[in-house]
Amino acid sequence: MRIDLHTHSSCSDGTSTPTQLVAEARRAGLDVLAITDHDSAAGWDEAARAAAEAGLELVRGMEISTRHRDRSVHLLAYLPDPGHRGLTRMLEAVLRGRDHRIPRMVARLRSLGIPITEELVAAKASGATAVGRPHVADVLVDLGVVGSRDQAFADYLGTGGRGYVSRPAAPLPGAISAVAEAGGVTVLAHPWGRGGRAALDAEEIAPLSAAGLTGLEVDHLDHDRAEREELREIARELDLVVTGASDYHGHGKTDHPLGVCTTDPEEYERLLAAAEQAARASRHQPPPVVRPG
Ligand code: AMP
Ligand code: FE
Ligand code: FE
Ligand code: ZN
Repeated sequence: MRIDLHTHSSCSDGTSTPTQLVAEARRAGLDVLAITDHDSAAGWDEAARAAAEAGLELVRGMEISTRHRDRSVHLLAYLPDPGHRGLTRMLEAVLRGRDHRIPRMVARLRSLGIPITEELVAAKASGATAVGRPHVADVLVDLGVVGSRDQAFADYLGTGGRGYVSRPAAPLPGAISAVAEAGGVTVLAHPWGRGGRAALDAEEIAPLSAAGLTGLEVDHLDHDRAEREELREIARELDLVVTGASDYHGHGKTDHPLGVCTTDPEEYERLLAAAEQAARASRHQPPPVVRPG
């Protein structure tokens, strides 16, 4: 069983449509795929149809942009009811913040002499519900300003960079409880990813576990071996589910192929059991896992 629980489509900053993502997952030999676009369930229906046809098991998820103590934290949410009012309100606020910062980023870049326009970004993000810095980065690549998304982040768009504009995010504990109320479960995405362990130290993870967090994404390319061992130990102590995933973004992140990191089948079963429990405890009807056959 090969299980990849964190992937993006063109509904956010991935480059494959949900249908293409499912086909690619099949070709990569995956048995289970989760679609986890940023702040949005927009790809769920298309991915579910494609998965049912392709005979692939599909988990509907999303990666919620949150903030904790002034730091950006990505929270994976699996199988919440997308119609839950608290959750949709929270996501709408984040998506609005994503839209509103684009003109400001464009203005900053233009003041540096770069001929970028809002229209170019909109064209690049056509089909995306969650517009983000990667779309701006791709326009910079098209304009020949930089050679790659990575270089765009390094030179302009990274936190504090010359073209950077921050945006609102949901408070982390509030996001954990909103997903739980919507009958879903949450996993901290790449907890020691780009921000390193300073983003969320071990002492800060325990209260989140008490607040209803279900798991930690341990096996992710942003973590080195020592970090994975330490995170695994934290998960063991707190009885958190351990997941692994590619964080695939299509050709937007070339070194993150589907299935490069995967989730142990036993841990996947624990995650699904927790989701079932969350669904029962809520008065909501979360979407089922799409199962082949
Ligand atoms: P945003 O959500 O608009 O703030 O953009 C953050 C997204 O950009 C992340 O989810 C990643 O997909 C991508 N990203 C962040 N940092 C980098 C980087 N250094 N190089 C390439 N992509 C990045
Ligand atoms: Fe992304
Ligand atoms: Fe992320
Ligand atoms: Zn991601």
